[in-house]
Amino acid sequence: MAKTTPEEATLSPEVLAKYESVIGLEVHVQLNTNTKIFCGCSTRFGDAPNSNTCPVCLGLPGTLPVLNKRVVEMAMRASLALNCTVHEHSRFARKNYFYPDLPKGYQISQYELPLATGGWIEIDHAGARKRIGITRLHLEEDAAKNLHEGFAESDTKAYIDYNRCGSPLSEIVSEPDMRAPEEAHAYLTALKQILLYTGVSDCNMEEGSLRCDANVSVRLRGATEFGTKVEVKNLNSFRFLQKAIEYEIARQIVVLESGNRVPQETRLWNQAESYTVPMRSKEKAHDYRYFPEPDLLPVHVSAAWREAAAKDLPELPEAKRARFVSIYGLSADEATVLTETRQEAAYFEVLVKSGSDPKQAAGWMQRLTHLAEVTADLQKKVADKYGIVAAERLAELIALVAGGKITSTSGRAVLAKMFESGRGAAEIVASEGLAQSSDTSAIEAIAREVIEKNADNVAKFKAGNEGVFKFFVGQVIKATRGQANPQVVNDVLRKLLS
Ligand code: ADP
Ligand code: ZN
Ligand code: MG
Repeated sequence: MAKTTPEEATLSPEVLAKYESVIGLEVHVQLNTNTKIFCGCSTRFGDAPNSNTCPVCLGLPGTLPVLNKRVVEMAMRASLALNCTVHEHSRFARKNYFYPDLPKGYQISQYELPLATGGWIEIDHAGARKRIGITRLHLEEDAAKNLHEGFAESDTKAYIDYNRCGSPLSEIVSEPDMRAPEEAHAYLTALKQILLYTGVSDCNMEEGSLRCDANVSVRLRGATEFGTKVEVKNLNSFRFLQKAIEYEIARQIVVLESGNRVPQETRLWNQAESYTVPMRSKEKAHDYRYFPEPDLLPVHVSAAWREAAAKDLPELPEAKRARFVSIYGLSADEATVLTETRQEAAYFEVLVKSGSDPKQAAGWMQRLTHLAEVTADLQKKVADKYGIVAAERLAELIALVAGGKITSTSGRAVLAKMFESGRGAAEIVASEGLAQSSDTSAIEAIAREVIEKNADNVAKFKAGNEGVFKFFVGQVIKATRGQANPQVVNDVLRKLLS
């Protein structure tokens, strides 16, 4: 653990090693629907404040919520992808509290009967696979957004945008199965990947579609009971999630080492100054006076509906990775990179189906990614690289190299031109005169020149220094601007030098 905070700085490695951390995450994801969970208002992000509202989501008296079926479908999809049991019966409850962002005075959420329970996902950590349990996935409505900046009277007033109020959320609660900040990071990464694969959410953290609270406790290694947990809120990036947990672990160890107890509380991550501050002592469930929502029927999921949702799931990252390893002979690392997104994996499979060798295809995709990354002004648009060079076109280039029409050195140059101009490989090869040359007499003429100019290296080679041979090959290929067929160059040089 990096010693970056005052608390950590006072801890010796020996003290740190005495403790083990325990982490559980509560993740809220906004489900990908066009309309809100209990009314027909749009869920579009970025619209003018309070333009997507109606009497239902504004909580006006006398209105009645109507459950959006698509929300249940999405949540069911997520639940199944997370290996949860989707229950035939679940129920909404009222979670009562007063806050300006909650116009009804209660949030409609699922409490004692959630939609789904008992799942798990696998994370990759320190080279091993580890299963993290998922306690539950339930449905709820989002609250509005308090705006403290950017308006004429922001100095003295808070403003509220009710557009988000009533947006559909799934809360996904993990078991306290993680033992290090890196594991929490890996869990959120894997969770986000599954949610993106299934199209359940866009998981956009900046827009608030993915929000994460971390529950953290520490205990002496070997202890059987968990320590008192602290819930840390306001973790709006993967980096802050990890940093906040690191900070919190160190803070709690300092408290325990000084002979005090860690009070159960909710703390807020201060992103500017990298520490957590107390927000409130942890509320108890009875403070919310949960009771069944009388305005909504229980949610009923028939076996047929659940089976249809299960059938409709795409191949998930874990399965895709395993398949890529077994049928394409890729390494686990290569497969992980290629299955990072569904789009990436699909692109790869188009290449292979067009006849590209899987390893070659992986290599060329990496080159394309590299090009996209170094093209500074395109950096924001790296995701578009597959739009610029479509899979069918990259497959043509790979075929030109594999078929010996151009050398792989020329292939790289062609790819760069394809990326720049969007033109096809064959067209670029023709217009730039890049076709591979196997013209023995032309190559021989160049080889003779190279040999003449490098008498000292010839002497070395004749004296038995085999390594110098590569030098000659390199020089000849360079002199042909990478177009000479390496095999022909090899043969010609062997003949001339022996
Ligand atoms: P609460 O009733 O306070 O909401 P829960 O038991 O529902 O607590 O757990 C909320 C989250 O806290 C879950 O993600 C769970 O894994 C995690 N958690 C529970 N106990 C601990 C603990 N001692 N240390 C760290 N995380 C914990
Ligand atoms: Zn509405
Ligand atoms: Mg809880």
